[in-house]
Parts: sequence; structure tokens; C-alpha cells
Amino acid sequence: MTRILIVEDEARIASFVEKGLRANGFATSVVGDGASALSSVRGGGFDLVVLDLGLPDRDGFSVLRQMRESGVDVPVVILTARDSVHDTVAGLEGGADDYMTKPFRFEELLARVRLRLRTSERAAELTVLRHGDLSLDLRTRRAGVGDRTVDLTAREFALLELFLRHPGQVLSREQILSHVWGYDFDPGSNIVDVYVRALRRKLGAERIETLRNMGYRLRD
Ligand code: CA
Repeated sequence: MTRILIVEDEARIASFVEKGLRANGFATSVVGDGASALSSVRGGGFDLVVLDLGLPDRDGFSVLRQMRESGVDVPVVILTARDSVHDTVAGLEGGADDYMTKPFRFEELLARVRLRLRTSERAAELTVLRHGDLSLDLRTRRAGVGDRTVDLTAREFALLELFLRHPGQVLSREQILSHVWGYDFDPGSNIVDVYVRALRRKLGAERIETLRNMGYRLRD
């Protein structure tokens, strides 16, 4: 379930936002000051934060800055009573993803929350390439086969990334050589075959198909 942290000191607004989000299937927690907001987000488990700027102990901007400094990268939608361009720009530059000016209709907030959740899901997906039960994490540079994690060398990683970006497509030895090793490689070299064999050993022989005189293909 998607969890949203609501940081709002005004009980009436907090309850309005919380009821609306719950009615739309989100799990919510409410905190009323900046210190509690920081300790909640640092504890993890939230997919999005709705952050009021006017908090009793500190400014919402400083909460946001400290969140980003401590590596918390969940989307943040700011609630602000201060209807000024200056605050909005400061909020977006300080790491907010969107903002709502009070008073607002719940539907408007909901639309922004949904949009930000979708955008952050897409960003997360882009760091992992998938094909069937095969996956490749572009950050950790590790492959996965079902639940099994597979360590790859730098060239194996580059080769698998190429296959995963072109699933089902035939890649010639020349294409693979130029993408993974660069053009200065002898086209007569059997290095591609050597690395394809290595990948098959690690991921399962059936995954990469050889097409005689054409090249290789990641099987569907
Ligand atoms: Ca407030």
C-alpha cells in the first residue's frame, strides 16, 4: 500500500487531507512539526510527503532541505498559504516536486499526489531493466534471475545491458563489438562468443539464442 506522510500542524487541514487520501486507498500518517517530520521520513517507508510550509518549530523549507541532505528522495508536495511566486520557486529549488496553495480543493491535491507517485515509479523502473524473470540493476550493476542475484564483470554487464535494451532483436557480432568494446576491435575476434558463453553460464544457456551467420538474440 502506498504510504503518505502528512506534515501539517493545523488539525483541521491535516484531517481534511488525511480523510481524503484514505478514502482514495492511501495509508497515511500525520505529524504536526518539523522535527517529527524529519524523524519519520528518515525512518523510511513513505512513498510521498505532503509538507506544510508554516510549521510551529521550523520552516517547511528547512525540513525539506534537511530531508534532501540526508538522502531522502521521496516526492514532496508542498502546501503553502503564502501565495507568492518567490516561495514557490524557493520550494521547487529546495527539492520540492510540486506545491499547492491554500485554500485548495482536495481533488487538486489528489491529482498532484498521483502524478508525483507515477513519476517517481517511472524513475525507479528506469534504473532496472527487465525481461521475463531476468533483471539488471543499472546502479548496483547486478543481474537477477528470478530471486537469484548474479555478479557480472564490467563487459558482461555492458553486454547484458545491450541485450536487455533490444529484447527479441537480432544483434550482429559487429553491433555487439562496437557497442561493448568499441570500433577498434578486430571484427574477426571471437571475444563476443566468449562473453556470450560467459553470460549463458551465469544466466542460463537457453536465454541467448545463436542465429547462424546473423548474431545473437535475447529470447522472449
Ligand atoms: Ca501550518
